[in-house]
Amino acid sequence: MECCSLESIFSEIDDNYKRIRERIAEAAIKSGRKEDEIRFMAVTKTVPPAMICHAISLGIDLIGENKVQELLSKEEDLPPNVEKHIIGHLQTNKVTKAISAASMIQSVDSLHLAEQIDKASQRLGKVTPVLLEINIGSEESKSGFPLDGFIENIYNISLYKNLKVCGLMTIPPVCETPDEARKFFSATRKLFVDIGAENIDNIDMQILSMGMSADYYEAILEGATLVRVGSALFGNRRY
Ligand SMILES: *Cc1c(COP(=O)(O)O)cnc(C)c1O
Repeated sequence: MECCSLESIFSEIDDNYKRIRERIAEAAIKSGRKEDEIRFMAVTKTVPPAMICHAISLGIDLIGENKVQELLSKEEDLPPNVEKHIIGHLQTNKVTKAISAASMIQSVDSLHLAEQIDKASQRLGKVTPVLLEINIGSEESKSGFPLDGFIENIYNISLYKNLKVCGLMTIPPVCETPDEARKFFSATRKLFVDIGAENIDNIDMQILSMGMSADYYEAILEGATLVRVGSALFGNRRY
């Protein structure tokens, strides 16, 4: 970091956020919606608390972390009123910590994990809001529910009373251009609408979480209601 003063990093975040907001507003209008119908999440993995706090000072009220441990390590340096979601693959032995530290798990990717979250939530006397992660490109390397059998899985999950399904999350396959990702976003959106139309007890299709730094604009055009943006806001991650 010897090159960059904190002020210059902050002003870069300011500029980035301004540009992102303009593009979100534009995409929202193009998709027939209002800017405030799209929720913005700052993805904060590897980002130090000082930078996260600066982003929060710009009005960002939702952050996403991939790892429970990393969220816990930053928690006391963050303002208490910021909403935190887990967006990375969650190991079942971290479920209790995850649902205590985060207000939503966006990355529920198996029936087994859903069951563990239900059980842990019951022990804590709470209902945990979750999104179901769908492997829309049917990629071996990715977590998420396969499309095959997804509806049966949903019906099974709907029986878990301490878990509240609020929508879907997806990460499309890596595409050469953001335009190529649109077909995956549109397929996810179709699933979202179809499941919503089934009117399943305890399954409420309200949040469609899709779109990252490279393709949040296209995701909004295809119906995303929540975008998860990391590097376009904070700059490239330094591991
Ligand atoms: C890292 C990550 C993001 C943000 O990625 P960027 O390309 O940096 O915007 C979004 N969603 C998930 C699940 C991630 O792991």
